[in-house]
Amino acid sequence: MNHEVKVIATGGAHRVIYHAHPANTIALTFVLPLTDEAFTRELWEMATECPVVFPSGIGVVPWMVPGGRDIAVATSELMKKYDVAIWAHHGMFCSGEDFDLTFGLMHTVEKSAEILVKVRSMTYEKRQTIQPDEFRHLAVDFGVELPEKFLYEKH
Ligand SMILES: [Zn+2]
Repeated sequence: MNHEVKVIATGGAHRVIYHAHPANTIALTFVLPLTDEAFTRELWEMATECPVVFPSGIGVVPWMVPGGRDIAVATSELMKKYDVAIWAHHGMFCSGEDFDLTFGLMHTVEKSAEILVKVRSMTYEKRQTIQPDEFRHLAVDFGVELPEKFLYEKH
């Protein structure tokens, strides 16, 4: 079903759907709110390359029984908007043009998750991080569009 959605969304450019169980990303599904906004923003903040590598963001599927139609529908809905979907307490799906790019995408997300796990292991509050306006400047210089819904002000 992901392949079907991506063939339409990319005009056939995406040929790989990669699924794996990366430990740090799974760990975060026990800690972060299970929303596209929380995962995208937190993982963008962990490494400057992240908003450039996955500018459209990350979708999150709540825990569901895998292997059936319901979770496939939920995941493929997210794949209409994103190239990355996380399954709570299970793993990740990435979509891309070939295996190298798709593996690299998942590796980037998982490395970012590892950094966040390390930060959270040291402290709950970050002393400093990348700010919304700094993401906007990055987007201009790197020629990517970052949806404003991920650049919310934190309290
Ligand atoms: Zn799996």
